[in-house]
Amino acid sequence: MEYAIMPAIIENRHGLRQGRIMSIENGWWHRARWVESPNQDSRPQNEISLLLLHSISLPPHEYGGPYIERLFTNRLTADEHPFFATIAGLRVSAHLLIRRSGECIQFVPFHRRAWHAGRSCWHDGDETRYALNDFSIGIELEGDEITPYKEAQYRVLAEATKSLCRQYPALSPERITSHARVAPRRKTDPGPAFDWAYYRQCLQSL
Ligand SMILES: [Zn+2]
Repeated sequence: MEYAIMPAIIENRHGLRQGRIMSIENGWWHRARWVESPNQDSRPQNEISLLLLHSISLPPHEYGGPYIERLFTNRLTADEHPFFATIAGLRVSAHLLIRRSGECIQFVPFHRRAWHAGRSCWHDGDETRYALNDFSIGIELEGDEITPYKEAQYRVLAEATKSLCRQYPALSPERITSHARVAPRRKTDPGPAFDWAYYRQCLQSL
């Protein structure tokens, strides 16, 4: 289902305070535009304790089209681009997508499980954990791993991280990692173009 366009920003024009814009209610972030994905289910243990960063561009290395949103809502048609034929049947999603412009779209409420990690594992202290979708939040950055990400993306990512850490106390800046790190043989995103030091700096400045 598609919700009203950019409710938080429209509300903001009517005088809502910044604190409310940054807030999360019923699992939805007010700062984002909401486009609900059917690719979600319940979290088996209601745990939210890991933030997983990804990148995506559709078609690869092209930005700004409607195709990521269509992929995450099962509306991507195979014949629009040769690459789409290889992925059109996938049932995937992420909680957030942060576009090159800084626009943020939310597809799955945070208390629900989005389908973004695939086969992966995370060393959580002494424990090796699998099924990371069960307890992680997935954020996709629109990008292609080798092209520098945009300033607006770092800013919004830092804002999202801060809102999430405030809302879900088991999350913390130490529990943020990349898809590449949890699935090293299959995945490389968000890739060498992602500047972790700058992201941490943005996070600290908020
Ligand atoms: Zn990924």
